[in-house]
Amino acid sequence: MRTRYSNIGKLYGTYNGPPALRKGEDLSFLPHIEEAFLLEEDGIIVEIGRMADLQGTVDREIDCEGNLVLPAWCDSHTHVVFAESRYQEFRMRLQGKLYEEIAKAGGGILNSAAKLGVASEDDLYLSAAERVKELIHNGVGALEIKSGYGLTPKSEYKMLRVIQRLKSNFPIDIKATFLGAHAIPKAFKNNRTGYIDQIINEMIPHVSKEGLADYCDVFCDKGFFTIEESRRILEAAYKYGMKAKIHANELAVSGGVQLACDMNAISCDHLESVTPVEIEYLKRHNTIPTLLPGTSFFLGIPYAPARKMIDAGLGICLASDYNPGSTPSGNIPFLLSLACIRMKLLPEEAIQAVTINGACALELEDTVGALQVGFKSNFIVLDGLRDLSEIMYFYGKSPIKQVVIGTNIF
Ligand SMILES: [Zn+2]
Repeated sequence: MRTRYSNIGKLYGTYNGPPALRKGEDLSFLPHIEEAFLLEEDGIIVEIGRMADLQGTVDREIDCEGNLVLPAWCDSHTHVVFAESRYQEFRMRLQGKLYEEIAKAGGGILNSAAKLGVASEDDLYLSAAERVKELIHNGVGALEIKSGYGLTPKSEYKMLRVIQRLKSNFPIDIKATFLGAHAIPKAFKNNRTGYIDQIINEMIPHVSKEGLADYCDVFCDKGFFTIEESRRILEAAYKYGMKAKIHANELAVSGGVQLACDMNAISCDHLESVTPVEIEYLKRHNTIPTLLPGTSFFLGIPYAPARKMIDAGLGICLASDYNPGSTPSGNIPFLLSLACIRMKLLPEEAIQAVTINGACALELEDTVGALQVGFKSNFIVLDGLRDLSEIMYFYGKSPIKQVVIGTNIF
């Protein structure tokens, strides 16, 4: 069946040639076609062009009424499989406790791990599926989900199996990341090496054998995993065919940026603190700096210096970090408002950081994140907006009229 979306005011993300990571000055230029149409067949874009050149008949015609159309968001960093919200800790924070203090008092990741340990696989699936549905309705067309609230072999595999079920049951691309090294579990409080050995000798081989994850991630930061521990884990993962992603520099300058670059990690995520030396290091490597403004907003910590990074010529990516502790939201339009208002990005820079660059951080840049012939027909029809900046300007309000994922319209 062929569906033609006609009368598109502006069709964005129409790159000439194979899209690649957008960097530096290129990030402010978002290619588009005015007064356009898009023809979809079996979920794939088969033609795009100007309304003036439109020819032939189709099975179904959908009038976009002059609205702006964007590629669907590619959210490359989330933790949406979790058992429960952590509203109690939110209350503690409102009373003045710091994130690290809450973690020391048994809150934080260990709190999520305790709740996940006793949750059934079906219940975990059902709650995560609700979140994925919500994300798709908010325009997400590709998604990464991490484990890391299990912290035992049994619970980590349970989380990863839930992600596999989400992969099979939803029409968007989902990548799974094994994050056994999210925190040292209580049982190994006095035996860090014991837990790291378990990750390396038991969990990574099993995760690989069962095909449960695409990537391996480590929380390489103050109070979590050191550079040497992170390196050992990621080297083991590489041996089993899992490429690296790294959480670094959220709580301190951890050295994780250099480690990510040296290990040719796909992305290095957080970077709320980043030094000029690290920016130069990133410029010389392929690792994508992925910034998570929702975390800075929710925790009240500094924002990653996105403006400086782009001005230095880097290609940044933005992602939600949707998780129950530090970012209980996957609302990308709000994240774009934060990126523009707090990180001083231009609308086109922010949008490309979470479309084409998000696709690169998921290694899906040949199929999503752009609207070109041969790509998946995953896009967002904006609701009466006259300019892209109105997405960020009307902060907190959904700019979305429709989300199209292949042959599905949400
Ligand atoms: Zn994270």
